[in-house]
Amino acid sequence: MSFESLGLRTELLRAASEKGYSTPTPIQTQAIPPILDGRDLMGGAQTGTGKTAGFTLPLLQRLMSSKPEKGRRAIRALVLTPTRELAAQVTESVRVYGKYLPLRSAAVFGGVSINPQIKKLRDGVDILVATPGRLLDHVSQTTIDLSRVEILVLDEADRMLDMGFIHDIRKVMKLLPKKKQTLLFSATFSNDIKRLADNLLHKPDLIEVAQRNTAAERVTQVVHPVDSKKKRKLLSLLIGSGNWKQVLVFARTKRNCDRLALALIKDGLNAAAIHGGKSQGARTKALANFKSGKVRILVATDIAARGLDISQLPHVVNYELPHVPEDYIHRIGRTGRAGHEGEAVSLVCICLLYTSPS
Ligand code: AMP
Repeated sequence: MSFESLGLRTELLRAASEKGYSTPTPIQTQAIPPILDGRDLMGGAQTGTGKTAGFTLPLLQRLMSSKPEKGRRAIRALVLTPTRELAAQVTESVRVYGKYLPLRSAAVFGGVSINPQIKKLRDGVDILVATPGRLLDHVSQTTIDLSRVEILVLDEADRMLDMGFIHDIRKVMKLLPKKKQTLLFSATFSNDIKRLADNLLHKPDLIEVAQRNTAAERVTQVVHPVDSKKKRKLLSLLIGSGNWKQVLVFARTKRNCDRLALALIKDGLNAAAIHGGKSQGARTKALANFKSGKVRILVATDIAARGLDISQLPHVVNYELPHVPEDYIHRIGRTGRAGHEGEAVSLVCICLLYTSPS
């Protein structure tokens, strides 16, 4: 199967080929034709499967082939994402895949000043990528008009629900036209997600490229039982002796992230922390330094790491295990992406409770 045979226009084929894509991934093969046909879609895709291009390429094509209403440029496609980082990543994908098309895109998310976003919206935007909270801020300031949206995408819908965005999503829905194409992507399918899909989607095509709630197949999973006091030493040892060049480490809380990053720095390792308590500027910088290789270890909470696409990230460490199984799947899905091998290591401290015989 080739991109050409999916019926994409030459501008998109050129952009995909320049990005180095020769063949579509399974989610792209399955998602692109029904989206081009204007159908609603519920997509179950593991992280790192290429789902962003899977919805962005046909979305751009549909916007090019439908005629916008006369008058001012209006937002015709809205992509909702749970986190700022994912919003920034999707916006970058829209820009890259749409570089030969005369469509404008923008991102709105919190943690940064609202004014440049307002200016950009005023200049006219066809595709808007947004986190729900900041989107509603714009709505309340009447700096956004969603009444002409033709395509809605809910990306990582499971995480949006986990993060408590359901009320915001409902509010946004009320501002959108009834008639539109809706695409919902989720790595896992809880009953809540199914309920949301029942409410939002009209006779959707269902596609799923991996088994539900399973971890990325190319990820080797390893568990090291370890005393909690020796965890940090073991981590430094694994990184040092294995000569790991790039490793994403998960801790449960913001405080633990900061403390661990500092301790690793003391061990002579180049580390940074990323979590929701940091300013957006600090988060962007930490991520950019990690991606470029300037920082070897990024210590993150689940929220900050959600949706991060770091190509060829070889190692993920669960310094502390997450509370829910879904988060484990998302965490280890940061590695083993787009056909590369990856290793996920969990440091587990097993506390033996000893009760003395009476
Ligand atoms: P995503 O699941 O959308 O976050 O994509 C994961 C990674 O796969 C990104 O780094 C994409 O650039 C890459 N990717 C997407 N589509 C393809 C493709 N057809 N061939 C090779 N890599 C791809």
